[in-house]
Amino acid sequence: MNPEPLRIGIAGIAIESSTFSPHRSTIDDFRVTRGAELLARYAFLTPGSELTEGVEWVPLLHAVAVPGGPVTEETYEQLAGEIFELLRTAGSLDGVFIDFHGAMSVLGRTDIEAEFVAGIRELVGPTTLLSASMDLHGNVSRALAETLDLVTCYRKAPHTDAWDTRERAARNLVARLRSGGRPRKAWVQVPVLLPGEKTSTRIDPAKRIYAMVDEVEAMDGVLDAAIWVGYAWADEPRCQAAVVVTGDDAGVITQQAKRLADAYWDAHDKFEFVAPTGTLAECVDRAVSSTARPFFISDSGDNPTAGGAGDTSWTLDALLRMPAITESGLTTIYAAIVDPEVTATAIRAGVGATVSVKLGGKIDAGPCGPVSLTAQVAAIDSSGAAVVLATGGLQVIVTTRRKPYHLESDFTDLGLAPRDADLVVVKIGYLEPELYAMAADWLLALTPGGVNQDLLSLGHRHIARPMYPFDPDMPTPILTPEIL
Ligand SMILES: [Zn+2]
Repeated sequence: MNPEPLRIGIAGIAIESSTFSPHRSTIDDFRVTRGAELLARYAFLTPGSELTEGVEWVPLLHAVAVPGGPVTEETYEQLAGEIFELLRTAGSLDGVFIDFHGAMSVLGRTDIEAEFVAGIRELVGPTTLLSASMDLHGNVSRALAETLDLVTCYRKAPHTDAWDTRERAARNLVARLRSGGRPRKAWVQVPVLLPGEKTSTRIDPAKRIYAMVDEVEAMDGVLDAAIWVGYAWADEPRCQAAVVVTGDDAGVITQQAKRLADAYWDAHDKFEFVAPTGTLAECVDRAVSSTARPFFISDSGDNPTAGGAGDTSWTLDALLRMPAITESGLTTIYAAIVDPEVTATAIRAGVGATVSVKLGGKIDAGPCGPVSLTAQVAAIDSSGAAVVLATGGLQVIVTTRRKPYHLESDFTDLGLAPRDADLVVVKIGYLEPELYAMAADWLLALTPGGVNQDLLSLGHRHIARPMYPFDPDMPTPILTPEIL
């Protein structure tokens, strides 16, 4: 006999947003998918694949944006409102698969993911299981952990396991709906708030601590284990590390959650930047005198993929004042700066023309407003979304929208050859895999912007205290997981 198929809804609003960035994320920043297009987002839900047998997946709405500044209230209400409306008419659901980041900030609100999940819970009722997949840079408040039935996150930073994590959240949900019963969760926060650039799983101690997750997950009585680093550029009480171990054996999950949390705390003062750091001037000096080519420098304070505005012009201004960059035979690529007006000016002028523009510093004026630049239009991409302005050996990419530069094709599409360049300066934190593989050497420049790595300079007022590293001499906390 064939049992009734399970019905599982899919929904989520995914963004990482810095409350220290003057950028505002609006509906135009989100890519919204619904229906078949949303279903097609998940390769593991391709018809005929194992997870579709006996399951009707009900795509509601998913919205994802490049990280940015806080989301406007109107945008959140529009997206969440549509999800809630779809849930009202979706019919009875056995489960909901929630695909989000966990570090969204909405202007005027706190712990928005907990509020969002509570809204779903209210509509689907107490018996529907809710399973969330998160980024390890999300935050897990008690309220969020309590409302969800299953919650997991990435185990790698850079996030090479993002799709495995989503699949695991979906798989665990289906398995639990089949076996019946609500799993238990051991939840504990760890009062440590560090940037992702210090907690990459490429190196210890994060590498070693995250390796323990697989070990815990394999234990009898455990369904899933997860450690969140949390998100350092939002000023909310929930922003800190957290551990959740899910399973049926309350004793084992409590003990293992404590073991993971203690391991994280024990390493709190051992986390180091994933690459050597320095001021921009120090990094450029070392890059210029090195023979390693291409030499990458992260312009880390305005990393748009962590929430920076992407138009902070401080670094560009500094590069333009360095004879080593503008008056030598070196080729330097700068990726990138957002400025739709300047992009339009360059497109109007055409390739080969010389333009004089005021570039960047219009969203995040920061310590440096728009920079005066006279340069030649070296390239225009076919979609009109980006141009290259060249002056001396410096090639500056200017874009109409905030855009990550993570792939070699992001450069080659513009006719640039990063492998042949001497220096490549990118608004990024840790290098994503393709750039990491390409870089002969790499330094992380500590620069100003909405995701400044100097956390103590940002002025957090609402995070829980004491918190490492804000209270460097804090006493050792007693970490006691709660069963939720
Ligand atoms: Zn992340």
